[in-house]
Amino acid sequence: MKVIEKVEAIKQQELTAQENLDQMYSVIEEKNDDINAFVELDYERAQKVAQDIDNRIKNNKETGKLAGLVIGIKCNINVEDFIVSAASPTLKEYYGSYNATVIKNIIKEDGVIVGLTNMDEFAAGSSTETSMYGPTNNPNALGHIPGGSSGGSAAAIAADMCDITLGSDTGGSIRNPASHCGVMGFKPTYGMVSRQGLLDLSMSLDQIGPFANDTSGIALMLDVITGYDPYDPTTFERESGEFLDDIECESLDNTTVGVVKEFMDVTDEKIDSQINKSIDNLSSLGAEIKELTFEDINLGLPTYYLINYVEFFSATRKYDGRKYGERIEEVCGPEVARRIQIGSYISQKEFSGKYYKKALQARSLIRNDFNALLKDVDIIAGPTVPKLPHKIGEKLETMDMYAYDVLTVLANITGIPASSMNAGRVNDIPVGLQLQAKPEEDHKILSTMSALEKL
Ligand code: GLN
Repeated sequence: MKVIEKVEAIKQQELTAQENLDQMYSVIEEKNDDINAFVELDYERAQKVAQDIDNRIKNNKETGKLAGLVIGIKCNINVEDFIVSAASPTLKEYYGSYNATVIKNIIKEDGVIVGLTNMDEFAAGSSTETSMYGPTNNPNALGHIPGGSSGGSAAAIAADMCDITLGSDTGGSIRNPASHCGVMGFKPTYGMVSRQGLLDLSMSLDQIGPFANDTSGIALMLDVITGYDPYDPTTFERESGEFLDDIECESLDNTTVGVVKEFMDVTDEKIDSQINKSIDNLSSLGAEIKELTFEDINLGLPTYYLINYVEFFSATRKYDGRKYGERIEEVCGPEVARRIQIGSYISQKEFSGKYYKKALQARSLIRNDFNALLKDVDIIAGPTVPKLPHKIGEKLETMDMYAYDVLTVLANITGIPASSMNAGRVNDIPVGLQLQAKPEEDHKILSTMSALEKL
C-alpha cells in the first residue's frame, strides 16, 4: 500500500493508527537486533499518540496530514526526551530538551514518532560504521553497509519498519544511503526546510529531508516540513503549491533531462548500465535527453571537505565538557577527531587566506558552472554513488571513503535540490538514480520521480 493510501485508509477507519503502529512495531521487534536501524524506541509514547488520533477519527474530529503514519527520526535532530547523541559518546547522555521545528510540524500533523535512527558520529561519514551504537546492516544487501550518514533512516524504510523517516544531508547523507538501500531519499533546496534543532555538521551545507518507499511519502513529508521558520533565518516560504499535487505526473513531454558525461565516467560501468536504463525510461516517458559536460568535477570533494572541516570545527567548540556531556576531543572517534584537528589548523591559517578562502572561491566557481549547466535543462539525471557499498567492517582508506561522495557533494555546495531513487541492482545490490534541479524546483524532481515510479 502506498503511504498516501494508508493515510486515507486510516481516515476511513479501514485501518487504525494503533494497528499500523503495532504492525510496524512487530517488524522492528523482529528485525532491529540484526539491522540496528533504530537506536532508541518509545512504544508507549507512540501508542498514546496513535490512540488519540484514532479517537479523533472516531469522533469525526480533524486530523493532520500524517495522521497515523509511523515515523523515525535521525538521532541528530532534537526530539524532546529522546537521547539526541548524534551517535557520539560526547552526547551519550544528552536528552533533547525541546522539539526541532521539523518535529513540531510532524507532531502538529499527527505523525507517530516511534524512535530515533542510527547514523555516523556527527553525520561525518558515508557508511554508518562510526556510530557509537555500532554499524547498521543493509536490509537489501545484508552484510554490506547501508551507506551514510543517515544509514539507520534508510534501513528503517528498506526493512518496512516505518512509513517515513527523516535524515540530514550535508554532502550526500540522505541520497547515499537511499541509493545503497534501494529506497527514495530527498534533499530539498538549501533553506527550504528549517535546520533549527539539527546538530550542525557543516551549517552552510546541511539540510533535513525525508526517506520513504514511494513518492507519496516523500511529498507528504515535504509538505509538512518545508517553509519559512523565524528560528532559522536561512529559510524561505516556498512558491510552488502542494508537493502532493506533483506526484500525479505521467508524462515528461515538456521536460529536458541532462546527462553529464563526467558523472558517468567516474562511475563503475555496471552501475552506469543500470543508470542508462533509467535514462531510456525517462526518454520513453517523453523527456528530451541532452548530453552535458562538467569540468569542475574534481573540485567538488576538496572544496566540500575544506568547508566541512572548518564549519565542523567551529560547531564543535560548544562540546567542551561544560554544558554538554564530555569534551569532544576526549571521547570522539578518529574521523571526528581528524575533522576537528584539520579544521582547527585551517582556521589558524585563515589570516593568510591559504585554504578556506580558496575553498570559498572554488565554491562560487562550482555554483556558477553548475547553474550554467542547469540553464538548458529541467533535470540532471545520473548515478547517485559511483561504486557499490563495501562489506561492513572492511577497512577503507580515508580517501576511498570520501570517494563515495563525489557525485552528491555538488548539490550541497550549490544548494540545489537532489534526490535518489532505485534504478535496479548490480550484483544483487541496489543502485540509485540521482535527480538534480534548479534551486526551488524541487517539485520538478518529485514529478520526474513519480513518472518513473509509475512505469
Ligand atoms: N560523507 C560526507 C561526509 O562525510 C557527507 C556526510 C553528510 O552528508 N552528512 O561529510
